[in-house]
Amino acid sequence: ERAPVVTIDGPSGAGKGTISQLLAQHLGWQLLDSGAIYRVLALAAIHHDVELENEEAITLLAAHLDVQFLTGDDKDAIKVVLEGEDVTSSIRSQECSNAASKVAAFPRVREALLRRQRAFQTTPGLIADGRDMGTVVFPTAPAKLFLTASAEERAQRRYNQLQDKGFDVNIERLLAEIIERDDRDMNRPVAPLVPAEDALVIDTSGKGITEVLELALKHIETKI
Ligand code: C5P
Repeated sequence: ERAPVVTIDGPSGAGKGTISQLLAQHLGWQLLDSGAIYRVLALAAIHHDVELENEEAITLLAAHLDVQFLTGDDKDAIKVVLEGEDVTSSIRSQECSNAASKVAAFPRVREALLRRQRAFQTTPGLIADGRDMGTVVFPTAPAKLFLTASAEERAQRRYNQLQDKGFDVNIERLLAEIIERDDRDMNRPVAPLVPAEDALVIDTSGKGITEVLELALKHIETKI
């Protein structure tokens, strides 16, 4: 029998990252931050001067991507290492966010990254955070969540997060980029951002972390 998977999908800034991390900690499960894989791929393309529009070259890069996700002593921080270099914070830049959503639109790139993502399914269980976790990567997962929030609230949260990380950001530009990125993610032909039919949709606008966490745990308990 395979380890249980809880999928958490939704647009950027809906609270997926925070909730996924807390759930993984609470349950003692493995965590897959699938967005980080697309971000690392985008950064690798930038480093190696591979054109973001070149599906074939990006697919090749995806197939050979040398990335590691390391759990450090600080239990809640996962270190992201690309070709031996710590890129944990550099993959969070706006340039990388935008580049990630461009390379993520290519069907063959997504295909090339499937097995790598599925390998995270190990005992005692997996929390999988992304856009297509419940629809494509783990379609038979017993518990699925889809988190949303208004674009304005998501922009504000991203703004706070990026400021905390020391990035210099402009809120209007961030909002425009979030809308553009959501649009690209929702309207791409493969694995578009949509809730799985059997997902519980939670609108996190105006809700605190504890409240969302409780709703998520209640759903998981009824399903697993
Ligand atoms: O979640 P995060 O903002 O880190 O994701 C960055 C980008 O990677 C998203 O805008 C999306 O285009 C892409 N992505 C995806 N499928 C996933 C996770 C992320 O297409 N499962």
